[in-house]
Amino acid sequence: MSRIAQNLMKISQRIEKAAKVAGRDSSTVNILAVSKTHSMDKIREAYAAGLTRFGESYVQEAIPKIKALASLPLEWHFIGPIQSNKTRDIAEHFDWVQSVDRLKIASRLNEQRPKELKPLNICVQINISMEDSKSGIVQQALHEFAAQLKPLRRLKLRGLMAIPQKTADEHQQRAFFAALRRLFDDLNQEGYQLDTLSMGMTNDLEAAVIEGSTLLRIGSGLFGARSDH
Ligand SMILES: *Cc1c(COP(=O)(O)O)cnc(C)c1O
Repeated sequence: MSRIAQNLMKISQRIEKAAKVAGRDSSTVNILAVSKTHSMDKIREAYAAGLTRFGESYVQEAIPKIKALASLPLEWHFIGPIQSNKTRDIAEHFDWVQSVDRLKIASRLNEQRPKELKPLNICVQINISMEDSKSGIVQQALHEFAAQLKPLRRLKLRGLMAIPQKTADEHQQRAFFAALRRLFDDLNQEGYQLDTLSMGMTNDLEAAVIEGSTLLRIGSGLFGARSDH
């Protein structure tokens, strides 16, 4: 068994255990393999282990990988900060964009999504722990922002994403995730049809599963440590 397959087993066991605590069916928790900085060979290995969703944060690094692996049935998620001059590449090559937090960027993605492709799936990124340095909109702006996305027919709003402040305190982790979950429930109450709550990474996945995550973004837990850009 490959190293990645072994790591996937460990992650799956952690998910299983947390789902049990929450009384959730673990099959409702999906894994996005965050492959930023990792090679195409690692992605092929992860695919062989059963993973099909991959997340990338840097456009220039991602496009060659996506092109080279086009023969595999992979789903590509963009999860990094978005610069205006990169929106065309993102709109043309990705299936999902989880880091949408500005109308100008959303409008460009909408205009630049090729007609022959399905609408681009998007998540709105929320700055859930209100850090100055973080991307994402503040919670209070979500209602209006979601309404502004409605006329953008080449985008499909699927859910919310957040990267909360790092903390080892599980109660604090859960409080951030619970806040995101409430925003998600509120929008669905208003009639949106969101199905994706993207929260939880390698170090806080248990708290995220307990609070309702449907998509964990796992990097180091699958691929090992990375030397970040
Ligand atoms: C890198 C990254 C991850 C993966 O983090 P790990 O701690 O390695 O699991 C998840 N989400 C985003 C947005 C990232 O940039």
